[in-house]
Amino acid sequence: MTDSTTQVKRPWEQPFWKPAPGGARALSYLVLIHVLAIIGLILFPLPSLKVLGISLVILALGSLGTTVAYHRVLSHKTLKLNPLIEQFLIFFAVLNGSGHPVSWVAYHRHHHSSTDTPDDISSPKQGGFWWAHLRWLYQSAPADKKRWCPELDRGIYKAWDYLETPVILLALVIGPLLGQGWMGFFWIGAIRMVYSLHMQCFVNSLTHLGHQEGDSSMNVWWLGPLQVGAWGENWHRNHHTYAGSARLGLRWWQPDVGWYFICTMEALGLARGVKRPQLR
Ligand SMILES: [Zn+2]
Ligand SMILES: [Zn+2]
Repeated sequence: MTDSTTQVKRPWEQPFWKPAPGGARALSYLVLIHVLAIIGLILFPLPSLKVLGISLVILALGSLGTTVAYHRVLSHKTLKLNPLIEQFLIFFAVLNGSGHPVSWVAYHRHHHSSTDTPDDISSPKQGGFWWAHLRWLYQSAPADKKRWCPELDRGIYKAWDYLETPVILLALVIGPLLGQGWMGFFWIGAIRMVYSLHMQCFVNSLTHLGHQEGDSSMNVWWLGPLQVGAWGENWHRNHHTYAGSARLGLRWWQPDVGWYFICTMEALGLARGVKRPQLR
C-alpha cells in the first residue's frame, strides 16, 4: 500500500515485540512504566491515603484532559473551551501519558474514518484484542498529522510534541517532588500511568468487541466507574452513532463525568458552541 499512513499493510502480522519504524520510543515507554509499576506494587502493595488521593486527583484531571480536550474539543469539535482551561487539561493528559494532542487527534480521526476495516489502526476485528489494546501504539505507522489534523499541527498544539518528553519525565518523579518519597514515586508515577493507560486502551479494545451489524463499537457500563474522571468514554457505541455530540452518556442513567464537566464550564461561561445530540 502506498498510503503514507500504512507502512505495512497488515502490521498485526508482525511479531508482537517488533516496533514499527519510529515506534521504539513508545515501546520503551510501555516497558518502563510496567516494570516500575510491578516493582512499586511489590515494594508498596498498599499506598497511604494521601498518596492514593494525590494519584487519583492527577489521574482524574488527565482523564478529563483526554475525554474532554483531546476527544470532544479537538478531535470532534463538539464544543469550544476557554483556551486556558483547554491547555490546563492538555497538560494533565500529557502527564497521564496519553500522548500529545496532535498525534492523538490524528490517530483518532483515522480510527473513525475507517472503523473496523483493514485501514483502521486499532481494530480488534482485524488484529485481535492485544493489537487493539497495546500493540498498535508501537507497531502502527506514526500518525499522519498533515493528513488528519493540519489545522492543529502548529502553534501551541505542536509545542506539546516537544513538551511531551519533559512532562513525562516530570510525571515519573512527581511523587518525590510532592514530598511523598519512594511510595509516591511509584504510586503517583508509574502505577498511575499504567492504570491510566489500560483504562484508555480499553476504549480501543474492549469497547470494540461487539458483533452487531456495522462497526463493532459497544457500550460497556461497568468500565465507566473504573475510568476515573473519564466516565463517558465507556459509552462508545453511543459515540460512534452520534460522533457529533459532546455528550457521550446519552441517557440519564448513563453517567458521563466529561459531560457534567462540560455543562459546568458552559454554565460558568468557559465553554460555548456545545453540540447536543439529536437523538433518533
Ligand atoms: Zn471519537
Ligand atoms: Zn471506536
